[in-house]
Amino acid sequence: MRLNFSIFIKLLVIQYLSVLCVSEDFDFFYFVQQWPGSYCDTKHSCCYPRTGKPVADFGIHGLWPQNKDGSYPQNCNPDNALDEDQINFPAGVEIKVVNLTDESAWTINVINTGLCHISIDRNGQELGKDNISDLTSSLQKDWPSLSCPSSTGFRFWSHEWEKHGTCAESEEIDQHGYFEAALKLKEKANLLQALRNAGIQPDDEFYDLGSIKEAIKDATGFTPGIECNIDPSKNSQIYQVFMCVDISGSEFIECPAAPKRRCASKVQFPKVLDDCMLSS
Ligand code: 5GP
Ligand code: 5GP
Repeated sequence: MRLNFSIFIKLLVIQYLSVLCVSEDFDFFYFVQQWPGSYCDTKHSCCYPRTGKPVADFGIHGLWPQNKDGSYPQNCNPDNALDEDQINFPAGVEIKVVNLTDESAWTINVINTGLCHISIDRNGQELGKDNISDLTSSLQKDWPSLSCPSSTGFRFWSHEWEKHGTCAESEEIDQHGYFEAALKLKEKANLLQALRNAGIQPDDEFYDLGSIKEAIKDATGFTPGIECNIDPSKNSQIYQVFMCVDISGSEFIECPAAPKRRCASKVQFPKVLDDCMLSS
């Protein structure tokens, strides 16, 4: 039991050393929003969240760390089941565990590395419901999960945290900070209003790809990347909007590398269906 506990602590320390001591290993973020009408009328099918049909607006897909050369980190803190034999600390590293009785966090001092004093969340890298409880109603509205079966959204947020958020983790961006940053960016971009101001609306009509980009640039100051998908009638339709964000997660920037996504020169902006299409 004592041995298992010591192994567990070592695993936690290895995880956190790798994240906290080598953080922000990326150049910028893609902030990606999806149009529900285009998620739902394709092969995806969709199920509206258990918490109710979201308003017809762009929803957040994710805030993704990205490199200028097109590569990107992902799953930066996988829950590796290491063998006991694989656990080795660099020479000279001692660990001292303090504060073990605290229910909410364990503090671990790493001595002799000169690098870190780290605080460890008992939940490890899994998204903790309590960490984002004050954001839940905003996330349900602005980051709804449309996949089937219907869910509360928590699984989608967890997936995005584990795949992308863990690669952005730093002293400034923790789980709460990551989701809060995405919510603020959505509000700042206000894509639907930006498009409406230019007479572009979700009415099943076709619009010039160039005028869609221009409308978003006029409103936000920055040119977005647009990703299209194909509806059952083989029309190219606006599916996702990519905007670039600095590594603090707060300011839009011109994209250092435009996302490579395809669209026809005229694309449909589909209505959002009243009824969700159930998965087949
Ligand atoms: P898809 O193949 O549908 O374009 O992408 C699948 C998933 O891979 C995305 O939802 C996202 O998690 C990840 N992904 C795809 N392209 C990129 C990219 O350019 N940058 C980052 N950071 N992630 C991406
Ligand atoms: P990504 O493509 O970001 O790597 O993965 C998205 C994952 O989240 C997929 O497993 C997908 O099924 C799930 N998911 C749940 N809700 C949504 C949603 O509303 N949109 C998208 N794109 N994926 C969702």
